[in-house]
Amino acid sequence: MTGSLVVVGTGPGKPELMTPATQAALAAATDLVGYGPYLDRVPMLRADQCRHASDNRVELDRARHALALAASGRRVAVVSGGDPGVFAMAAAIFEAVESGDPVWRTLDIRVEPGVTAMLAAAAEVGAPLGGDFCAISLSDNLKDWATIERRLKAAAEADFVIALYNPASKARPHQLGEAFALLRTVKATGTPVLFVRAAGSADSKVVATTLAEADASVADMRTLVIVGASTTRQVGRWIYTPRGAKS
Ligand code: SAH
Repeated sequence: MTGSLVVVGTGPGKPELMTPATQAALAAATDLVGYGPYLDRVPMLRADQCRHASDNRVELDRARHALALAASGRRVAVVSGGDPGVFAMAAAIFEAVESGDPVWRTLDIRVEPGVTAMLAAAAEVGAPLGGDFCAISLSDNLKDWATIERRLKAAAEADFVIALYNPASKARPHQLGEAFALLRTVKATGTPVLFVRAAGSADSKVVATTLAEADASVADMRTLVIVGASTTRQVGRWIYTPRGAKS
């Protein structure tokens, strides 16, 4: 038996937002590797499938484990939430390949795209990502806060719509407030700010406000924050960013 490894994303929550290609990859796998709550989103697809649930913070260990299983001949699916390439396991797999057993470079490794939180969140409110946008993770587990601040400032100065992943967690309660304070020094106070919790799931919740009034405590680990560009605006009950921006 020849081993393989596919990295998949479950989408933001609703089963319908998991792609058919991802479902097929999951059904073909002998082993599923991932953070427990993401594995729980995957229905039991075959009786002979092994599940290897692990803690959220041990991504590199999980990646090495998955690669070792594939090298031993198993058909492994590594499961992320959303899209597996956006702040998730696909990059962890390649980091492990880069620093690991040279044999891993010859493995059959593939990535399936998924619906990332930013897209599901945007769809909940209209089309806030209709113009140029960028995505920044506020997690400083793997990068310095100074780097995050530099990127926030540059994105604000360039008038991008900014999608903020990992806005808050119990271990990091202050980052989002600091990010808003920095953005207020560049962007207009009336700039739309959207907090979308559990986007693309049955219990999604949207809080729409402005940069002046945005309260960082609204966000938690399941929230995606979108900060508009100067053109982002409301029409009826929707928020959108026009496609063009002429200066
Ligand atoms: N790979 C994931 C992102 C992992 S980073 C993806 O593509 O969506 C984890 C962060 O993603 C969370 O802190 C939150 O900011 C965001 N997130 C993930 N799922 C979400 C959802 N359903 N609704 C809102 N934000 C979500």
